Amino acid sequence: MSTHFPVLRPGKPLVVAIDGPSGSGKSSVSREVARRLGLAYLDTGAMYRAVTWHCVNGRINLRDAVYVEGAARSIHLEQSVDPDHEEVRVNGINVTAAIREPVISERVSAVATTMGARAELIRRQRAVISEHRHRIVVEGRDITTVVAPDAEVRLLLTASEEARLRRRGLQLGGTQTKEQLATQVLARDAKDATVVNFQQAADGVFTVDSSELDFEATVRAVLEVVYTAVHEHPAVEAADA
Ligand code: C5P
Repeated sequence: MSTHFPVLRPGKPLVVAIDGPSGSGKSSVSREVARRLGLAYLDTGAMYRAVTWHCVNGRINLRDAVYVEGAARSIHLEQSVDPDHEEVRVNGINVTAAIREPVISERVSAVATTMGARAELIRRQRAVISEHRHRIVVEGRDITTVVAPDAEVRLLLTASEEARLRRRGLQLGGTQTKEQLATQVLARDAKDATVVNFQQAADGVFTVDSSELDFEATVRAVLEVVYTAVHEHPAVEAADA
């Protein structure tokens, strides 16, 4: 993994926990922040999506908590934590593209609201953080509050409803109607919010509102939060940033 920045907290833990709603730019911004800081990157949403894909593919009833929890426990989940390489495998099958399909986005909240499945995925997420010696950017909905409340940096990335709908629409290549987008973004967030709070920053959690910021400005705002939180500002700015 290459880094453009001097290494922050060399040899010491540096967990950057980032939460936020869908369409806030969380994944792409977190990935870029990991790249620039030379950290590993964990997309926890992809884990919920992978379990959902497994259930849909195996015709497991998503309303049956026992089976959904069983699926979360039993699947062999392999996930790249290299910010330059996105890959997710379930029982050896490459599902990197399949887990982004609208059918998965529409159903993933069923897994997210099954508490036994959440507990198992949280356990797996903590294991990944340990495996990477606590030098990792982790993004999701409950990272700052549940998965890694003791992270060195905790941040909530928000954006207005309008900005979030626009971004998701662009990501999906303009193939969705307004109603479909609203279902995918707002209805999903509403369901997810019944089990985790990712709309207000908890105590000690920084907020970055990306509504009016482009990608580069959002990345820089997040990096500023990282430096402030760890009280270290790199002496040199990124040459190519
Ligand atoms: O971030 P992404 O949109 O890929 O997340 C997919 C879904 O996974 C969310 O809608 C939510 O239901 C669930 N999720 C969660 N907790 C996390 C990350 C994602 O419940 N930490």
